Amino acid sequence: MKRGVLLILSAPAGAGKDTVCEALLEKVPDLSYSVSTTTRPKRDYEIDGKNYFFLTKEEFKERLNAGGFLENVVYAGHYYGTPKAFVEEQLAQGISVILKIEVQGAAQVKASGIDGVFIFLVPPEFKDLQDRLIGRGSESQAEIEERTRIAKKELAVVNMYDYVVVNDTVSEAVNQMEAILLAEKHKRERMLDLEIFQHMAETEEGE
Ligand code: 5GP
Repeated sequence: MKRGVLLILSAPAGAGKDTVCEALLEKVPDLSYSVSTTTRPKRDYEIDGKNYFFLTKEEFKERLNAGGFLENVVYAGHYYGTPKAFVEEQLAQGISVILKIEVQGAAQVKASGIDGVFIFLVPPEFKDLQDRLIGRGSESQAEIEERTRIAKKELAVVNMYDYVVVNDTVSEAVNQMEAILLAEKHKRERMLDLEIFQHMAETEEGE
């Protein structure tokens, strides 16, 4: 059984990460969503166990101490973490998994040496990020400059990622992510366990 591929999807806020991820999961078979754990309050439309597993801080810390997370962060004052067991089970069963996480968590996954494919989703233009940060235009010039600086910083993390997808239309972004997943599945190292390669001659280096 071939291991699944671990996809790590991050994006600056407002890039449409949730929509693209949802549409990708609908389209692609053998891809699971890793439901994260959080201590932030549940929003009205959210379902416990579907959008997140909502835990108290104490419960979260217990799991953290038990080594239950693949990565975890404090974001906007709340804890977030990716449950390790689910991801490992799925990958071992040949099912690919997508983590929809912010950049510091993605950096932890990368640093841990786990074999993952890192995808950064961006809106088509810088002004799309600025618009989201600038809101309704009631801010002072200093505030606008500060928010522009934040938007620029949010883009600088791109160097950690393997792929960039532009969310021009959701369906195009989904197609591109599906293509990335397919290409990753055909990496040579993932194909060498095919029967045909079991008959391959041993070669000297450089032959
Ligand atoms: P929200 O609270 O708005 O649902 O999520 C805030 C941010 O945390 C989003 O960027 C979301 O993708 C990210 N996030 C959600 N779950 C996790 C997680 O388990 N780990 C990390 N590192 N980020 C997460």
